[in-house]
Amino acid sequence: MQFYSTNNKNLRVPFQEAVFNSLPTDKGLYMPETVPTLDPYFIQHLHRHSLQEIALTVAKALIGEDIPEADLRQIVHEAIDFDAPVRPLDSGLAVLELFHGPSLAFKDFGARFMSRVMAYFSTEDSRVLDVLVATSGDTGGAVALGFLGVPGTRVTILYPKGKVSPIQELQLTTNGQNIRAIEIDGTFDDCQALVKEAFNDNELRSVFRLTSANSINIARLIPQTFYYFHAYAQLLTQGIKEVVFSVPSGNFGNIGAGLLAFKMGLPAQHFVAATNANDTVTRFLENGQYEPRPSVQTLANAMDVGNPSNWVRIMDLFGNDLAALKQIVSSFTFTDADTRAAIQALHDRYGYIACPHTAIAWLAAEAYRKQHSGNFATVFLSTAHPCKFPEVFPSEIAVEIAIPSQVTMLQGREKEVVGLRTDYKGFKNYLLSTL
Ligand SMILES: *Cc1c(COP(=O)(O)O)cnc(C)c1O
Repeated sequence: MQFYSTNNKNLRVPFQEAVFNSLPTDKGLYMPETVPTLDPYFIQHLHRHSLQEIALTVAKALIGEDIPEADLRQIVHEAIDFDAPVRPLDSGLAVLELFHGPSLAFKDFGARFMSRVMAYFSTEDSRVLDVLVATSGDTGGAVALGFLGVPGTRVTILYPKGKVSPIQELQLTTNGQNIRAIEIDGTFDDCQALVKEAFNDNELRSVFRLTSANSINIARLIPQTFYYFHAYAQLLTQGIKEVVFSVPSGNFGNIGAGLLAFKMGLPAQHFVAATNANDTVTRFLENGQYEPRPSVQTLANAMDVGNPSNWVRIMDLFGNDLAALKQIVSSFTFTDADTRAAIQALHDRYGYIACPHTAIAWLAAEAYRKQHSGNFATVFLSTAHPCKFPEVFPSEIAVEIAIPSQVTMLQGREKEVVGLRTDYKGFKNYLLSTL
């Protein structure tokens, strides 16, 4: 499969190049030159297949020419080694839990698959693949744990000192092996600026084989389609065929993958993009004006994105036809007060504890259900385990949150971190000293 740039369909590269470039030189995003459709018989009988089997079939359709089946199977088996259960809450309402991976967030799907694809394509190069990543929390944990122990790779994570949650800090700093953490005495933007400058530094590029683990990497998008098909499979076992997905959205990679799955033949009826105060897309679907704004901070901070980087992919999938897009995507926006009320309501009504992102997806699912009658089931996506956001919950709910083994196994481990200031020279000297 060749991948083109959303800015220029004639600019095409093989999958391997799209993965290592992350971004085309013209700053578009990579998209598959054709969207393959899956065999309708396979789709109708999805419930006969496991998540890993579905993942392999979907991956084969997209990149089967680029990675031989036996290798792709190995990649899928290593990367997608945890469950994504659909839990029914009510008749016609269920939650798809995507937080059972090592970092307790759905970003594990993308990060684990991408890390193994990169390692696979690196075997001909004897140099270590150096992954530089700036994080405000969730991405870094998923990338660190995704690459942990992957041969031929080393990950350097930069995070803003004192600005990540205790569990996130544990996930970033206690790994050892091929993962190292740097706390920067500054902001997330400072971390990002340092990583960017390193990528533009020819001296560094001549001695290191550098790559980013950027969230817009095509190798992170592809594995996120897997769980939509698998969710549909689980509903089929209950005889449900009409499904609406509600997705908590920030950079719109998650819902973008859902829409790619739809174009590949997933029989979803509709998608609902749930947003917080960062509602650029919600406004766009209302008035047709795409007006990005600076991001504002909310309780659901992984969705605090004013200019969603994957939006151009979604427009591209629908041929930039807003009317066609609106047939299949709706969007609703909610405040922090709504989010707190939703966390409480989910707890009181269903005994379910949802992270703030998930709570917003539930609100959007309910808003859609109010507007549309019909015989469909609504599935809202749970993108992170609630224990990652302890400060959001009232104490009587917080005490009920069970801490998963992924966290308890890190507790008590030695924190290993290098402290640096925001100056580039210090960062560069550090990198060179560890060649
Ligand atoms: C990253 C993230 C999101 C947003 O996902 P996008 O693909 O950027 O839209 C939502 N919830 C959680 C917990 C996340 O970590």
